Amino acid sequence: MVGNWKLNLDHHQAIQLVQKLAWTLGDAKHDYDAVEVVVSPSFTSLRSVQTLVDGDKLGLKYASQDISAQEKGAYTGEVSAAQLSALGVSYAIVGHSERREYHAESDALVNAKIRAALGAGITPIVCVGEPLEVRQASEHVAHTLAQVDGALADLTPEQVASLVVAYEPVWAIGTGEVATPEDAQEIAEAIRARVAETVDADVAAGLRILYGGSVKADNVAQIMAKPDVDGALVGGASLVLEQFAAIAGFQ
Ligand code: PGA
Repeated sequence: MVGNWKLNLDHHQAIQLVQKLAWTLGDAKHDYDAVEVVVSPSFTSLRSVQTLVDGDKLGLKYASQDISAQEKGAYTGEVSAAQLSALGVSYAIVGHSERREYHAESDALVNAKIRAALGAGITPIVCVGEPLEVRQASEHVAHTLAQVDGALADLTPEQVASLVVAYEPVWAIGTGEVATPEDAQEIAEAIRARVAETVDADVAAGLRILYGGSVKADNVAQIMAKPDVDGALVGGASLVLEQFAAIAGFQ
């Protein structure tokens, strides 16, 4: 269960939310081995979150919201996989639809970022999903699978086995519009089948596939009940302690 905080919270607020989340889950005897809980704050908060998680030996993990495809050098504003690894980052969100839309990230760049993350021992959470007009034209499966093909191009089965895919229909992100559990299952199943076909059947069977798009405490159960959905990537509701604690604690 991954909380994507997007462009919200400074590092003081990030510390507070992580602390409260850890206490709430601790009180509920959360089994972090059964359900991993990941928060994804801004780059500016990662060091503070690292200090807190290490110091208090919290079971939570943390992710960056992006990662550079470049190793080092003259790339102003970029943050490298090695820098993130040094901050104890376990996961990196890659190719979120907001990055694809506002920063023109292509499938080729997403592929390069996945390689950079994996090379530093960081697990990429690879986001795919269709915009509204594609859904209305009933092209959502083909569109999403083309993104999967592009993102995973020429990766080894071992590399694919160690990443996470998040299906996030763009029309359901931050809109309150949730894909039905059947919509989520349709695409998650199609992604698994595609990976079985193009990569490896065992890798596909073990692949972790998340759903994201207006997930809340009151709709997570129906979505998680679907056989091919293994977790959730949560935006807005991850900023609300009670909401995200309930989502994370859902088993
Ligand atoms: P949302 O965002 O839960 O606010 O719809 C999900 C995401 O963009 O990861």
